Amino acid sequence: MKVLSVASEVYPLIKTGGLADVAGALPAALASHGVDMRVLLPGYKQVLARLRRPSTVLEFDDLFGASAKVRACKIDGVQFLILDAPDLYDRDGGPYTNASGADHPDNWRRFAALSRAAATIAEVGLRGWVPDIVHAHDWQAGLAPVYMKHGKASATPTVLTIHNIAFQGQFGPEIFPGLGLPPSVFSVDGLEYYGDVSFLKGGLQMASAITTVSPTYAQEIRTPAFGMGLDGLINARADALHGIVNGIDPEVWDPATDAMIPANYSLSKLKKRQANRKALADRFGLAGTDGPVFTVVSRLTWQKGIDVLIDLVDDIVAMGAKLVVLGSGDQLLEAALLAATERHPGHIGFFIGYDEPLSHLMQAGGDMVLVPSRFEPCGLTQLYGLRYGNVPVVARTGGLADTVIDANEAASAAGVATGFQFSPVTPDALREALRRAVRAFADPKIWARLQNQGMKADVSWDRSALRYAELYAELLPRTSENP
Ligand code: ADP
Repeated sequence: MKVLSVASEVYPLIKTGGLADVAGALPAALASHGVDMRVLLPGYKQVLARLRRPSTVLEFDDLFGASAKVRACKIDGVQFLILDAPDLYDRDGGPYTNASGADHPDNWRRFAALSRAAATIAEVGLRGWVPDIVHAHDWQAGLAPVYMKHGKASATPTVLTIHNIAFQGQFGPEIFPGLGLPPSVFSVDGLEYYGDVSFLKGGLQMASAITTVSPTYAQEIRTPAFGMGLDGLINARADALHGIVNGIDPEVWDPATDAMIPANYSLSKLKKRQANRKALADRFGLAGTDGPVFTVVSRLTWQKGIDVLIDLVDDIVAMGAKLVVLGSGDQLLEAALLAATERHPGHIGFFIGYDEPLSHLMQAGGDMVLVPSRFEPCGLTQLYGLRYGNVPVVARTGGLADTVIDANEAASAAGVATGFQFSPVTPDALREALRRAVRAFADPKIWARLQNQGMKADVSWDRSALRYAELYAELLPRTSENP
């Protein structure tokens, strides 16, 4: 089965968050299920710099006013298809923002072009490789099902995965004529959203199947509190909606082989983890390694509940714990965290920025990973925490609720607990969860058991990859090869 995956970021070429990890891991996870997945992404400056001897497999004379090529290149076993359109993508800054952090003003055109290119590949193929299915991720690829529905590939099934329904790709109505879609598509049954154009809405209307990244989030987005204005549409399409939890890339995230950490370790050699704890403490200038070290690796936004955590900084220090944070985002949150480090030197550490190796060290050297998100479609840092013996303390929402088993009495007695959950996302509830975690940490036997159970938990892609493969098969016409 041939599947074209379309995403705006894919690890290891370009990453700002979990979408990249998932889009990067899916091809290998699906290969063992007979799926030949190739991944289309924009040729940003950072991506072009990584290409080695790419071959041109498709050319556009005019893709939104610019010439463009699709270049194929195999990296770490994955077949990447790079949409090389310098006018659109070869510029300074990140995938979505310029060097000063402002959205590129032509993002609508940049990501419409990505979707248009995907639809063209579905129509004409790439030197004989014609996808059976197109799998689009998030709003940036949301128009792929729309272009396909209104083009020559209307019979090819499409899947749209929502990694975060808060990001919808909404633009003013003036951009609609530039999309090259029939006027009828600008309607309430198409991509029109309160007078604006919504890329995600269009995709949700037209995709053959919709998935999101955990079963709990699939239920949550059907409610006004989590649906971000699209809950009505999600409910209307409930029959096409599936919640499939993310796994982690076992090649990238394995403490036994991870080249980004000072000391490799495994369940049977957990003592070696101490060297990473020490390295982490040194890195953040912590005053010794007594007491638990809480870690946070996150975008610093309201969604992630960072403000609630900041309210508890004094309590954390009073508990005898330390807190280290890696992330960037809202300036007010960054300023508050900086102020906390100044108030509690040696106890609170903060690194502003994006640092992949440091994120690995935090998982390998921390005692607990905190994820106090107000909503969390899946969340990956708690999965990395489980794998690395960095016990998760998480809000009971979305994928966090699905992947961490709270150390309540019953779960502890049954030997299945892997972390701590709390709800609602308030300082009181989080403080209580942190206290429970600190008490457990104080008993080395209890703590070792928790780490053990977490490290043994199945956070692989095995089950989820099978579910995607089954979904693809359901969407294809029945044949002797697909009974
Ligand atoms: P989201 O996609 O909402 O940002 P996830 O938990 O799904 O949240 O994925 C976040 C991913 O980005 C994880 O791989 C995490 O380790 C990584 N990450 C987040 N912030 C940073 C940072 N400042 N430096 C390095 N990695 C980060």
